[in-house]
Amino acid sequence: MPLKIYRDKRNFAKTKEPKGTLKQSKCYKNVFIIQKHAASHLHYDFRLELNGVLLSWAVPKGPSLDPKVKRLAVHVEDHPVEYAYFEGTIPEGEYGGGTVMLWDRGKWQSEDDDIKKAYKKGNMTFTLHAEKLNGAWKLIRLKNDDKHWLLIKLDDEYAKSSNYDITKEAPNSVNDGQTMKEITATAKKSWMQKGKVSKKKIQKK
Ligand code: MN
Repeated sequence: MPLKIYRDKRNFAKTKEPKGTLKQSKCYKNVFIIQKHAASHLHYDFRLELNGVLLSWAVPKGPSLDPKVKRLAVHVEDHPVEYAYFEGTIPEGEYGGGTVMLWDRGKWQSEDDDIKKAYKKGNMTFTLHAEKLNGAWKLIRLKNDDKHWLLIKLDDEYAKSSNYDITKEAPNSVNDGQTMKEITATAKKSWMQKGKVSKKKIQKK
């Protein structure tokens, strides 16, 4: 069961994260997203769709456009493709509790002859076509370690020196331009409105 680890970690009665299916529809094909996630430590969740799931890495410092900079990327459990639309909050005390922002969104294209082999080998080369990240990138797994990978920008016209920090230059949501604070406030408001609706229903009865 490909989403078992994902589902086992979460209580779907409490979190609004999608339970997920294994959809292989066109709209999810080769989808690429990054979610900025203010959990106990802020990090950037880097996700690539492959075979109906999102392969996922948590990048503590976020991506760098400087080819000289290698960013640690911790491999985490596969997420459902529906997660590509998730923005909001995970309740405190739940797994990954905190605010999730859709920080980048687009498509990825493998540059390896055999994607599955490259993934298994821990050496993937690909092109991103997204709103913030573009061009050629690499994900390389460290030797004798299945969890720790490095995310590296390859040198091309989208590369920039490390003076330019994309996480600072473009900090907001690609969904609607909201900040982390605004997403947190919006989610709180919608929870409260839902509370009001259910109270009204109870009163009618
Ligand atoms: Mn995360």
